[in-house]
Amino acid sequence: MARLVMKFGGTSVADLDRIRNVARHVKREVDAGHEVAVVVSAMAGETNKLVALCRGASPLHDAREYDTVVAAGEQVTCGLLAIALQAMGVHARSWLGWQIPIRTDAAHGAARITGIPAEMLLERFAQGQVAVVAGFQGLAPDNRVATLGRGGSDTSAVAIAAAVGADRCDIYTDVDGVYTTDPRIVSNARRLDKIAFEEMLEMASLGAKVLQVRSVELAMLHGVRTFVRSSFDDPDAPQAGPDGQPIGTLICDEDEIVEKQLVTGIAYSKDEAKITMRGVQDKPGVAAAIFGPLADASINVDMIVQNISEDGRTTDITFTVPTADFERAMALIKSLEGAVTMESVSGSSDVAKVSVIGIGMRSHAGVAAKAFEALAARGINIQLITTSEIKISILIDAAYTELAVRTLHSIYELDKT
Ligand code: ADP
Ligand code: ASP
Ligand code: MG
Repeated sequence: MARLVMKFGGTSVADLDRIRNVARHVKREVDAGHEVAVVVSAMAGETNKLVALCRGASPLHDAREYDTVVAAGEQVTCGLLAIALQAMGVHARSWLGWQIPIRTDAAHGAARITGIPAEMLLERFAQGQVAVVAGFQGLAPDNRVATLGRGGSDTSAVAIAAAVGADRCDIYTDVDGVYTTDPRIVSNARRLDKIAFEEMLEMASLGAKVLQVRSVELAMLHGVRTFVRSSFDDPDAPQAGPDGQPIGTLICDEDEIVEKQLVTGIAYSKDEAKITMRGVQDKPGVAAAIFGPLADASINVDMIVQNISEDGRTTDITFTVPTADFERAMALIKSLEGAVTMESVSGSSDVAKVSVIGIGMRSHAGVAAKAFEALAARGINIQLITTSEIKISILIDAAYTELAVRTLHSIYELDKT
């Protein structure tokens, strides 16, 4: 007997037929004698609709009321799945975030889970009951509903798995695992059998939407074995690999990966905007005077490049921010004129960040040079570069995103087994 948390994403619960299909996946595990808790997302497209309604009601809406509205999608699916399970004879009950309670911090709209008391869930396991938990939501210190940021049901699932000491957290989605890159844009992307926590963390934070970044952080912190697999498999005869195990990707410790690849995957993000400040006075304290106010305004700065000062007096600084914060960041930088001497400010949101990720890079040179050569050969201009031990990120014109991803995917031979 194992203790499992099973999470089903939006496309997996998009209509009643799919919810019934999900119920069959759950029943299979219950019938096999496992203790099961389930986490569900809202039906595909529902959360977008609710977000649009909030914006329509007022572009500058209160984050607490936004949470009240957008948490509604998961309330519907957890109730429907409990009904579908009961109709199949499975002992099941729905739970909203506040009923457990999944405690969060006060950051409405992008809250972090601070604690989950496990007693109630453990009691349900002992009674042989399946708890169907609404993902994406929790209870903030102000006693109001809080949501965990888009894609947050992954995080609900991993946090619950950590709280109840689950043997595994299965993330059921519309792809049968984590691929070398987004299979929607590269048709010959390959499914990975295993990926290290650290690599998955980079993949997710650099744009691979298959898992929310925070869920990978939690899985890594608490050592939750997380398995990404397809909900579209036949629930009664799931596809099996050569070892008889279901097909999917295990996110695990680096030590469990026998054959370490030089490059594991390529991620991309179009959610980037670039701001360039020219002729900035080059003296101590200038970077603090620019990036301090941006941090105070909760604007996340990602890539930063400062040129060597040619005349010893002025320099150019370029940095990137999320597209959603672009206008706000431009206005803030312009408002610094006076406090920071500069000649001009310009910006563009037509940029994308393409990243190459792999733990093998730690011990190999030349990975970056290969990427630069290949992009140059296709006439793709590199605007900014940042690197860490296990990734290289390159900022390019957004129009070349797909071409750059395909190019990098093929030069590191990620399409080959
Ligand atoms: P869910 O609704 O189940 O949470 P998501 O849409 O959030 O599903 O995540 C699954 C999607 O992530 C896939 O359909 C795929 O297009 C996208 N994706 C992006 N990068 C990758 C990758 N490297 N591997 C697998 N899927 C990826
Ligand atoms: N329904 C939420 C969203 O669309 C949470 C999730 O699906 O994980 O972002
Ligand atoms: Mg998701």
